[in-house]
Amino acid sequence: MDRAALGFDHLTRFWLGSAPARGVVARLDESLGRALAEHDYPAPVKALLRQLAAAALLLASNLKQPAAIVIQAQGEGPAPLLCVEATHTLSCRAYASVKSDGPLPSGGDLLDWVAGSGSGRLVFTIDPERGQMYQGIVALEHASVARLLESYLSNSQQTDTRLWLREDGETLEAALLERLPVDSKDAEAALARWQAAEANMERAFADPFMPFPYTEWLEMVFPNETVQAQTPSAVRFACPCSIERVLGALRLVGLEELMPLAEAQGGVETRCEFCGRRYRVEKAQLLALFHDERVDGKHPPGTSTLQ
Ligand SMILES: [Zn+2]
Repeated sequence: MDRAALGFDHLTRFWLGSAPARGVVARLDESLGRALAEHDYPAPVKALLRQLAAAALLLASNLKQPAAIVIQAQGEGPAPLLCVEATHTLSCRAYASVKSDGPLPSGGDLLDWVAGSGSGRLVFTIDPERGQMYQGIVALEHASVARLLESYLSNSQQTDTRLWLREDGETLEAALLERLPVDSKDAEAALARWQAAEANMERAFADPFMPFPYTEWLEMVFPNETVQAQTPSAVRFACPCSIERVLGALRLVGLEELMPLAEAQGGVETRCEFCGRRYRVEKAQLLALFHDERVDGKHPPGTSTLQ
């Protein structure tokens, strides 16, 4: 059976027949490998980025409109920023900033690497293609990615949410389980069924990694349930960076800031933090960019001097 049929670089959403729960499970392999291929980060930083990216992808599969989910862990440690993005089309990308000086931590968790000796925070953003951006911020108070996101999601969505992550060689297996609301008269029985579903997934993640096709795997994990699973969807690495976006970012920096660099090097070079792709904007192109803006904008042509 090929790797796609076994669920590698695919995810599937599912619903349980009797427990009030829905979930998503993913086995991420090449997609995460490619997302981090251009980066030379220490192994624990790569592991944390992989876990955050997996979580972002599971959550992105629940998006109801075209949008991106961005999860950032920020702090004062040796890796003061971890940033991952996943979209509704199930593409993902990731990067970190890692300090080049100072001692590296011996541990491998979020507090060691991101918070360091200071504090840290998790910034969770839903950025829709249209409409208002949503952002939630919480303190980085858990060392594990799974515990931190479980706590954040359970609070923000006001329903129990569980997240499991485990590595097996090059593959990261991830599962999310969310408790669904029920009629209050069934509350007690529903709670027991939810807890049984949680325990089932807990056991599956404690057992050895078994890449069976998702339908079979879910039936084994929840032997007393009728599981309804969606057709698995492919997950991939993709970076939507482009020269248009680079020009947009340069516009925000402003010509006065950019000109000394453009004079010295004949242009401005930037590198996409996510995929490593390099962009060069020649001096003439830069002048044209700001000239057009001045023609279109408030300044009539001829009134501005380019220094
Ligand atoms: Zn890029």
